[in-house]
Amino acid sequence: MQFGEVHQVTFASTYVPMGSDKAIFAVQNVNDNDQITRYQMGRYIAIWRIFGFIIVPELACEDFGYDGVIGPTYWGDKYQECRGKHQSPININVLRVKQVALPDINFVGFDDSIDDVHVSNNGHTVLIEVENEPHPRVSGGPLDGTYVFSQMHFHWGDNDTFGSEDKINHRSFPMELHMVFYKEEYKSVKQAVKHSDGLTVLAFFYELDRHKHPAYDDITSALGNVTEPHTSIVMSQPFSFLNILPLDLRRYFTYRGSLTTPPCSEVVIWLDFEQPIRLAHDQIEAFRELRSGNGKIKHNFRPIQPIGDRVVFYNVDNNYFNYNEIDDPDDATRGPNRRKKGHNDSSTLKVNLYIFLSIIITMW
Ligand SMILES: [Zn+2]
Repeated sequence: MQFGEVHQVTFASTYVPMGSDKAIFAVQNVNDNDQITRYQMGRYIAIWRIFGFIIVPELACEDFGYDGVIGPTYWGDKYQECRGKHQSPININVLRVKQVALPDINFVGFDDSIDDVHVSNNGHTVLIEVENEPHPRVSGGPLDGTYVFSQMHFHWGDNDTFGSEDKINHRSFPMELHMVFYKEEYKSVKQAVKHSDGLTVLAFFYELDRHKHPAYDDITSALGNVTEPHTSIVMSQPFSFLNILPLDLRRYFTYRGSLTTPPCSEVVIWLDFEQPIRLAHDQIEAFRELRSGNGKIKHNFRPIQPIGDRVVFYNVDNNYFNYNEIDDPDDATRGPNRRKKGHNDSSTLKVNLYIFLSIIITMW
């Protein structure tokens, strides 16, 4: 098989999406014959495995960017929805949020070790996608139904003082992670974007730390192999979602908004987690080495949009301090479920009872 066979427009527009939020714009252009698309994807991945990575030629002009005449100010000229009333990102004013206590979020497959992880530079951002089935999924919280993982990607700025898309009290963070999920009942991202509750994005902010975050070393290493636009690599080490996320997944803001890249579809239930992920400067700097067709991607965040008549909800976990008191960093069972346990957990009571009885028996 020659590389030329692989570089078909159908495939490239499927698997190397042009829209950073989200593969969505590109997915809308996909050949309707899913079987052929998957077959082509399979062949492509087979080549990946042999050569480690492959450079895919740029097949289309970038039709949006972050500067000049293709910058955010002009997106609405071509994509009407970018001028909608419920756009993202927004500034979240914590004095105006509505506090709520939503049901627990169920994170399924987040602590799985995933060994088939693809890292791609799509000319706008870096995308992380997984091949393993079933994909991780989320439900609960403000979500009605189950949402299936599609991809994750990042937004950053020219330096460490700004770069996130959403802001908290007008505070910008140096980088932001978006984990994109589509509603399971809609079967695909392509179908999901036709519904107002089609997608959910779990958003995480980053802040600076003096120390490197070890779980990010594999990602930043992979970035070195995808600096050129439309290149991809398979990560050499297994990958776990939970390892790259903050510990507290219970406090978050949630609101209805849009994709933050064209076509800006207003189909996203946003969850912005309050606790940032801490990265070293060098780890954030590695993202700024990525290139688009116009040179280095120095920034790729959309400016904040009017909040309009929307309400931002703030999920407060009433037992927050209980959970943190029992957090044990050496606990091998570390996972989202562990965080749900409080002091009244039945297994803890059983252990205490056992110790109590042992002491009584010993004294006897
Ligand atoms: Zn995004």
